[in-house]
Amino acid sequence: PVAARRERLISDADLASITVTNPTRRLFGRSGPTKLDIAVYYALVGDFMLPHILGRPVSLVRCPTGKAQDCFFQRHPFTGMPSSMATFATTNSEGETKSYLSVEDARGFLALAQFGVVEFHTWGTTRKRLEKPDRIVFDLDPGEGVTWREVVEAAVHIGGELGALGLVPFVKTSGGKGIHVVVPVTPKLSWRKAHPATSAIAARLAATAPQTFTTTMGKDNRIRRIFIDFHRNARGHTAAAPYSLRARTNLPASTPVSWADLEAIDAPEDLNYSSLPGLLATSGDPWADIDDFARDLPLLS
Ligand code: ATP
Ligand code: MN
Ligand code: MN
Repeated sequence: PVAARRERLISDADLASITVTNPTRRLFGRSGPTKLDIAVYYALVGDFMLPHILGRPVSLVRCPTGKAQDCFFQRHPFTGMPSSMATFATTNSEGETKSYLSVEDARGFLALAQFGVVEFHTWGTTRKRLEKPDRIVFDLDPGEGVTWREVVEAAVHIGGELGALGLVPFVKTSGGKGIHVVVPVTPKLSWRKAHPATSAIAARLAATAPQTFTTTMGKDNRIRRIFIDFHRNARGHTAAAPYSLRARTNLPASTPVSWADLEAIDAPEDLNYSSLPGLLATSGDPWADIDDFARDLPLLS
């Protein structure tokens, strides 16, 4: 039933528009994936991924030479970028006006592979309603000594607690060591109110299992614990987009999964550029309905 909801956002003409120079250039070593592999991956998952990124402020990780040490985070417009990418001006946390980016259509999205784009990160808001977030993320960052199985159990626990607060949590792998619990919210609160609200929620979550969680940033606090990073919900901060690849060996993807399927994942790195398109084609996007489940973010004290 989920797969039936797939909308065709990428047309054959869009696919035909893709240009990839140096298609055989390998990333991250001699046996790594190629620039063409990345273009093909995004063409295959685009119908599922685009609903989660269109119209949202986006930052990109570009790896134009293919060497890991040359990858960089691109928040601002760049020379030669696809013409259908949008740019818009807004203030940063220092009060300076800067130009930011958003992907507005399939053509602009598909063209980014040519610029060495590997990762997509978004704000939890749309460009048109910039000041009021509609997606909140609790980024679970395991410290040293925490196993993947423990992170999964912690995410399930947090999902249950968020449900008890009247929210409807969704979950994805980060593509790294952690898990992102994402909550659709009604865009009523400004960033100034939403970020502290997520701080209070994170504190409440941590208090339910203080041996497992911490909400303080320092690395020492995290040994054998999981940091509930709620700072992704500060204005101008980003989190990896659903289905974004991550710029490391074998290109793991930040993969949305159902809560039931989360518990079946043994090695999140197996969800990657080569395996995910096939899995998605069969099962569809488990987050396809996410916007229908937006609830008011509670203001705990
Ligand atoms: P992991 O599971 O390994 O934690 P993650 O994607 O959650 O994976 P974090 O290190 O927890 O990674 O989060 C880093 C966050 O900071 C990302 O959400 C990303 O959007 C943002 N980010 C990454 N690189 C930069 C950068 N160079 N400048 C600013 N923000 C960045
Ligand atoms: Mn993280
Ligand atoms: Mn983090």
